Amino acid sequence: TAPAVVTLTGVTERTLVLVKPDGVSRKLVGEVVSRIERKGLDLVALDLRTVDRELATQHYAEHDGKPFFEELISFITSGPVLAAVVEGPRAIAAWRQVAGGTDPVEKAAPGSIRGDLALETGSNLVHGSDAPASADREIKLWFPNL
Ligand code: UDP
Repeated sequence: TAPAVVTLTGVTERTLVLVKPDGVSRKLVGEVVSRIERKGLDLVALDLRTVDRELATQHYAEHDGKPFFEELISFITSGPVLAAVVEGPRAIAAWRQVAGGTDPVEKAAPGSIRGDLALETGSNLVHGSDAPASADREIKLWFPNL
């Protein structure tokens, strides 16, 4: 008998994606949106906005107290960001694969956004939620009406 073909289909998830101020100022919004679409993920919401300190500190609450926190907050509030809700099977992990690891040189694979287009951890172009609970929290924070 022929071996059974097993298709592993991930459950549909939503994740929060940001193109950070460095990505917007470097005119990489189109590049990032293109990579989301080429991966096969769906755009659910898209919004270009400037982040105030309150949203920034809530978004990065888990990093409060760390040595890079102040730098992170001033960076993310320094200019417009593109905020997006992205949906698809295993969207959280899929987007993190497309984005690449946090350190663009040591961790991000070639072919990923950070691996191809960024050099510094402090300006690594994009954000993506890291787990279902944080995706849920971040989407409510950025898109309360969704
Ligand atoms: N970050 C930094 N220095 C560090 C660690 C993190 O500047 O030593 C910044 C970096 O921009 C990163 C963000 O803080 O993207 C959030 O860190 P996290 O560990 O959540 O990484 P991510 O999920 O964005 O890959």
